Amino acid sequence: MAYAEVAVSLPVGLEQTFHYRVPESLTGEAVQYSRVEVPFSGRTVQGFILGFSTPPQLKHLKEIKRVLEKEPFLNHHLYELAQWMVQRYLCSLGDALQCIAGSPVGQQKAERSRGLVAAEEGSWVGLARAPKQKQALEVALARPGLRKSQLAKTAGVSVAVIEALLAKGLLREGQRPEPVAWERLDRESWPELTAEQSLAVHELTEALQNPVPSAWLLHGVTGSGKTEVYLRAIAETLSMGRQAIVLVPEISLTPQMVERFQSRFGSAVAVLHSALSQGEKYAEKARIRNGQATVVLGARSAVFAPVANLGLIIIDEEHESSYKQEETPKYHTREVALQRVALAKGVVLLGSATPALESYCRARPGGPYRLLTLSRRVDRKTLPQVQIIDLKKEMAEGNFSIFSRPLVRALARRLERNEKSILFLNRRGFATFVVCRHCGQVMRCPHCEISLTLHSNGRLRCHYCGFGVRSPGVCPACGSKTIRSFGVGTQRVEEELQKLFPGCESIRMDADTTSRKGSHKKLLDQFRQGGAKVLIGTQMIAKGLDIPQVTLVGVVSADLSLHMPDFRSAERTFQLLTQVAGRAGRGEIAGEVMIQTYDPEHYSITTAQNHDFLTFYAKEMTVRQALRYPPYSHLIRILFTGLNEADVIGAGQWWRDRLVNENGAANYQGIEILGPAPAGIPKIKDRYRWQLMIKGSVSKEIRQITRSVLEQAGIRFKQVSVSIDVDPV
Ligand code: ADP
Ligand code: ZN
Ligand code: ZN
Repeated sequence: MAYAEVAVSLPVGLEQTFHYRVPESLTGEAVQYSRVEVPFSGRTVQGFILGFSTPPQLKHLKEIKRVLEKEPFLNHHLYELAQWMVQRYLCSLGDALQCIAGSPVGQQKAERSRGLVAAEEGSWVGLARAPKQKQALEVALARPGLRKSQLAKTAGVSVAVIEALLAKGLLREGQRPEPVAWERLDRESWPELTAEQSLAVHELTEALQNPVPSAWLLHGVTGSGKTEVYLRAIAETLSMGRQAIVLVPEISLTPQMVERFQSRFGSAVAVLHSALSQGEKYAEKARIRNGQATVVLGARSAVFAPVANLGLIIIDEEHESSYKQEETPKYHTREVALQRVALAKGVVLLGSATPALESYCRARPGGPYRLLTLSRRVDRKTLPQVQIIDLKKEMAEGNFSIFSRPLVRALARRLERNEKSILFLNRRGFATFVVCRHCGQVMRCPHCEISLTLHSNGRLRCHYCGFGVRSPGVCPACGSKTIRSFGVGTQRVEEELQKLFPGCESIRMDADTTSRKGSHKKLLDQFRQGGAKVLIGTQMIAKGLDIPQVTLVGVVSADLSLHMPDFRSAERTFQLLTQVAGRAGRGEIAGEVMIQTYDPEHYSITTAQNHDFLTFYAKEMTVRQALRYPPYSHLIRILFTGLNEADVIGAGQWWRDRLVNENGAANYQGIEILGPAPAGIPKIKDRYRWQLMIKGSVSKEIRQITRSVLEQAGIRFKQVSVSIDVDPV
């Protein structure tokens, strides 16, 4: 009798595993790492077989029910990575393995994913009286690899037509035809590198030859040729017989981006993104595992791609918050990449025009990363003019509208000249803050320096420490009565625009208008090609800034991101504004950027105006040091959620009581406990959300403390779920 040791995907003890009997019928199927279904306290759950051994207790041992996947995308390296994730993110081993292997795909689905291909055109006989069938075949020829229903829909015929063609053998299941292999692509046509690019490629090539893992930060403004450096570093990696993974934020994974890699590396490129069906994803991963694909291009989760001999991981726009996974295990792609490369003795290359503070500080002399810089744009085009508009002054002069007079004039000029404009709302949450329109003062927490958030009961609350006050009637700084809540949405901007320019055609792009899959791209295409003159949207329109007809970008209020209740709000603001300022006006006509704000002297706005990362970095580091926020400390956020608010607060308080003494001071030296306080979004889908933060200088120390409370808590809180976020973003 064989006994398997299984890690289940449940929030059990972090490294806890369970033994199961392997029934006779599953021998051969149940092997190391296979994904299985097992009974677990009255339920059926998924897990992974780690190995085979005899358990200390043979009584009451249950049987494995089923093997779901004999060979999921796991191997010894990825198993080691899972073990590291358990320590780093305090998740269970089963959850870590589940996250790495991805969702299970049945063998059948995988087969189907190969899709339909048409027979040679010469063999299409007897179709004269079947125009629908001919039509479907023509589509299948032009777009091989579609599934049955997709092909029917694309060709505008019924599924029965496709079935008929399958029966006749004129359509069959098969592989998509392969594009050319990359070795054959013409090296002659690669651009000659600039001096800065050459230096970067040279350093990276040496690093790849070195058997010691290393990490590099490539700091270069938009258009400075970072992608070209990536392409060369990949070519070097492949020529050494190793593989490369390129990670981009989901939003940058556009067809143009994919084409750029395919035109260099042909069929060696595998693309992993969220729009793929389960079957398609499986097929791409299979190509990676069997070595057909050696360059993996994808969003966050592609960091787990099952390459056999990893040499290089590139993270483009490494500062983007989409690299943080928001569900358990709440990993950061950058950290996982560093760990994977350390195991594989490879190289990590982080690229950005506005690196995360954490990354840039690690790339300072003596730090663990090495810095590479591209200081100039390849095309020598100048960056657009950026104008900052003081909204306090507008108000003092009697303009209460959300549009300043200079912005209105600039919009009018664009409409006259038939050029396009973008109105940008740089926000990602919904927090409402309180600002004095007279002096620009914003209500902040006296303990945490975080902007206070206005709640419906008229109280201001700090999301870090729980501090609360009534919203004031007069400004505490200047005594003006013009202090009030601030929040503006895309709908409001559109209404105001219509008032100013009746009949002006505009497109609105936000979470409401883009909730359907693909509508994001559709709206952008519509703006590019259609008659609309103004695009109004939140952060998701950043890509639209590349449209050449756009000659004006107006940031409606920089304050929206500046006063998010988050210690990173200044950094986010700098990143967003720099991105806007760097991308606008890429066409022939020089672009203009206008930033409206109540705080025109704020360093994150003035440095973005001058494209000056280094000054921003220096200033922000002193602020972080003074307030002891990362990178000068580490944070762990414990989130409590549940239907009953008293239970949720009770669980938070129980945790706090384990961590502080009677005087409210932390039981551990150098560690601060903040909260419990309502989370940034205090309620989602009827579930209340409260959080507790643990702050300390040594990451390992606060992880250990969290782990010990987690173990004490066990299954104490049945009605409250507890989730742990190490280094929240
Ligand atoms: P980034 O990734 O930093 O935004 P890219 O690599 O996309 O920059 O380069 C910007 C543009 O310059 C692209 O059109 C690219 O093809 C071109 N380019 C990059 N490097 C060179 C070079 N050495 N010589 C000529 N053109 C280049
Ligand atoms: Zn004031
Ligand atoms: Zn506070």
